[in-house]
Amino acid sequence: MGRIELKGVRKAFGEVEVIPPLDLAIEDGEFCVFVGPSGCGKSTLLRLIAGLEDTSGGHIEIDGLDMTDTPPARRGLAMVFQSYALYPHMSVRKNIAFPMKMAGVDAAEQARRIEAAARALNLSDYLDRRPGQLSGGQRQRVAIGRAIVREPSAFLFDEPLSNLDAALRVGMRMEIGELHEQLSTTMIYVTHDQVEAMTMADRIVVLRAGRIEQVGTPLDLYRSPRNLFVAGFIGSPR
Ligand code: ADP
Ligand code: MG
Repeated sequence: MGRIELKGVRKAFGEVEVIPPLDLAIEDGEFCVFVGPSGCGKSTLLRLIAGLEDTSGGHIEIDGLDMTDTPPARRGLAMVFQSYALYPHMSVRKNIAFPMKMAGVDAAEQARRIEAAARALNLSDYLDRRPGQLSGGQRQRVAIGRAIVREPSAFLFDEPLSNLDAALRVGMRMEIGELHEQLSTTMIYVTHDQVEAMTMADRIVVLRAGRIEQVGTPLDLYRSPRNLFVAGFIGSPR
């Protein structure tokens, strides 16, 4: 399960309202992309959902439960950032195992989940290496592996590919898409990259200055952009 509903969620930093009250429901199993220019509030919105940022108002429900004040570790979500934040002194296996160790998962179950994640991410041959001995793409896969083994009800990605070169980004997009098909877990994916949004999303949420300009499938947005901002951003022919 992984249905996420935002009800009148808002966020201000001091006097500045970065997210005016916003309503949005992300369905269980959906691949939902938040897209918009730099500074429009994508990361803030994701961090509110993750619980890494306190809301200034409104409610966040996950599978019908109010989690507005629930600490991040108890929301059942896993976040993948653009910076990999792997432990350099630990092997890939230990990096992936770390969140399970913290959660008190027993050793046999840890081994099972590591095997499964490594298989899904093509990391089986690299489990005994250190992060420094991996390519950028492999390091990003380890970061995703660390999210997978927590068996979250949703994955939250914040521009996970922005540190990778263009060719690698294309491959990783496909891998994340395939992972979504395999796991059919809810994924919220933040990007400022229109191509990424249009190729990966079941549904796109276009943000401008913390407001939702339009929500729809890539085809909806391409065929019927609501305004020039959406048209321009999505690159539709209007
Ligand atoms: P995006 O991820 O779309 O680039 P962000 O969510 O990072 O945008 O930022 C949205 C706005 O909120 C920006 O104007 C940014 O400067 C501001 N902002 C983000 N985090 C903070 C913070 N901790 N304190 C003050 N302002 C912030
Ligand atoms: Mg951001």
